[in-house]
Amino acid sequence: MLRLPLAVLLVAAFFSVAAEEGKWTPSQVLELDAGELRQMGLQIAPRDLWDPAKGSGLLSAAINISGCSASFVSTTGLIATNHHCLFGVLQEHSTRERDIISNGFLARERGQELPGRTTRVTVPRAFADVTAQMEAAAANATDDLSRYHALDRKQKELVAACEAKPNRRCRLARFDGGVQYILQEMMELRDVRLVYAPPRAIGEYGGEVDNWMWPRHTGDFSIARAYVSPSGEPADYNTANVPYAPERFLRISQRPLREGDFVMVLGYPGLTYRSLLAEEMRERRDLFFARRVELFGEWIELLEAVSKDSEEGRIAVAADLKSLLNRYKNAQGQMDGFRRGDLLNKQLLAEREVLAWAASRAEWQPAVAARAELLRHFEERLTTWERDFLFANIGAGPKSLSFAQTLVRLATERTKPDMERDEAYMERNLRSLLATLERQQKSYFPEADKQMLLALVERARKLPSGQRIEAIDALFPTSLSRQELASRIDALYRNSKVLELESRKAMAGESTEALRARKDPFLDLAFSMEERMAGYREAERRWEGTISRLRPAWRKAVMAHAGKPVAPDANSTLRVSFAHVAGYAPRDAVAYGPFTTLSGVVEKNTGKDPFAVPSRVLDAAKAGKGSRWKDAALNDIAVNFLATGDTTGGNSGSPMVNGYGELVGLNFDRVWENVANDFGYNPAIARNVSVDIRYMLWTLEAIDGAGELLAELGITR
Ligand code: ASP
Repeated sequence: MLRLPLAVLLVAAFFSVAAEEGKWTPSQVLELDAGELRQMGLQIAPRDLWDPAKGSGLLSAAINISGCSASFVSTTGLIATNHHCLFGVLQEHSTRERDIISNGFLARERGQELPGRTTRVTVPRAFADVTAQMEAAAANATDDLSRYHALDRKQKELVAACEAKPNRRCRLARFDGGVQYILQEMMELRDVRLVYAPPRAIGEYGGEVDNWMWPRHTGDFSIARAYVSPSGEPADYNTANVPYAPERFLRISQRPLREGDFVMVLGYPGLTYRSLLAEEMRERRDLFFARRVELFGEWIELLEAVSKDSEEGRIAVAADLKSLLNRYKNAQGQMDGFRRGDLLNKQLLAEREVLAWAASRAEWQPAVAARAELLRHFEERLTTWERDFLFANIGAGPKSLSFAQTLVRLATERTKPDMERDEAYMERNLRSLLATLERQQKSYFPEADKQMLLALVERARKLPSGQRIEAIDALFPTSLSRQELASRIDALYRNSKVLELESRKAMAGESTEALRARKDPFLDLAFSMEERMAGYREAERRWEGTISRLRPAWRKAVMAHAGKPVAPDANSTLRVSFAHVAGYAPRDAVAYGPFTTLSGVVEKNTGKDPFAVPSRVLDAAKAGKGSRWKDAALNDIAVNFLATGDTTGGNSGSPMVNGYGELVGLNFDRVWENVANDFGYNPAIARNVSVDIRYMLWTLEAIDGAGELLAELGITR
């Protein structure tokens, strides 16, 4: 048996019961026991992380970059995040002649930096609990749909009032279905440029083979810079803009990171499902992830096949394909984790325990009833599940249909007063919606799009009766052979203009009448699907209303039963997770260490994608270049490390900081055994994967000779 000193055992036991489980909100961090956090290894005061009175703290350096997490790392607006988070900008600027996806990119001077058209950074400013106001707004609702609308209205009013302040971008976040509502005040920076990305063979080393796996050797880092107007205000891209000087930035740690060290993950975890009822979890496992594997698997196969022999095609589909691959493997990991961790049963047992506890207490009877009612409504939703799944995935599919739907919705929603529109079509969001419609042209590859549509239509044609999409049935009758179907789809593409950039831009300003008058086949298809789509959207809203009425009642019982702080499910808001650097045992008789090294990168090299180490790396490694980044204990350059951070998608790019608040790494993944942590925390396998910041420094120095950039990061010779 492995002999560990008593102190280590005690610390380990403490970790497992204390704050390691949970993605804590900034205000919760201040409610946790400061003494315990200190004992875990936090050297700074919790209030240094976030001071609500000042609306500032170290956490204001933890920013969101287009759905990923990131951090400011210099006074000159430099931002560190993952390679995969800025991959879209690489794809946006790659051409056959200048393939920066493969070769990487380094701006030797500021004028060379590459703007990400739709890349946005938000910087946190203030958080206000508005739960009482939201509840009051919904108090008189007569049914769940009107409840949804009452909450939606209030949310829009609160956001509008918040955005009346100069340069504010606000968002109302709902926690665990409505246990709490928090108004998030942020500053949005719209001019964000790529400064540096390593070659794909470093940034994505191991590719899909190693994705979601350990041991890992990926240099998943890249650097951007945020710009503001010369007077310091957020502004659209303009060459006259100047680097943004953040209030706080993270200093790069000069202390070697070691096994057992305390670390924190600061970031914006996207979506987890721990507050779901067991039956809802079953739907995720048996339907949602299962169908995602089927649909995305099919799309991936044909995207790969279609782009195989075309350099242009490869660049066009690169970002979409990467995202599909990532979610495809994630879905498999979720299903695998359910099985291995027996998660469904665990949730059933946990639920039963709370039920038994609540049933014997008069004050919790409403919670018991709320759970039962929630379950009833949930089961009703399953009757149109397959069709709804296809509707929900149109946006991830063929551009023809998703562009056409967006244009039709845009024209329809525009006729309404701003506060009554669907949020995505409100004036405050139109600029980015239009930019996306334009930006996506770079990702359009006709043959791939046609094939994706064909696959989608074939799925729609297999829907059970009662869930048919009549507009698809009418256009593609089941009597058509596959061949006929394909040629009909060809004809649609031939006769449509939604895929031509200039026409699409014009369409984005037109009324529904004008769009109909165009007699464009994709617009016509979108119009004829609209009735069904509207019904689907209304059912979704009603369900949101139901959730907001019932889930909080049940969750409050769960929390009262727990008798300790419970962190809410992830919802893309700023969170902190406390952790330490540690290996784990994935399977019987296997033990994983917490660090991988540069020697490991070389060891994995086969010369073939995705394990083709660039020769510059091999040479530098051999020559011992940049060896000042060598870790004395490892006698090697640390590449990736494991920690016990409680993370999920969206935490990509999260700064990993030590107890002093210094940057030691960038989170970019979880291990395979831990993919299903979205449904429950298991301390034995809860490991997040980060790139060691020393690997980034080594690459900048030894591979790219990026001395000036290093100096900006505070690193001098
Ligand atoms: N690799 C991740 C992502 O795709 C991060 C994670 O899910 O842990 O967002």
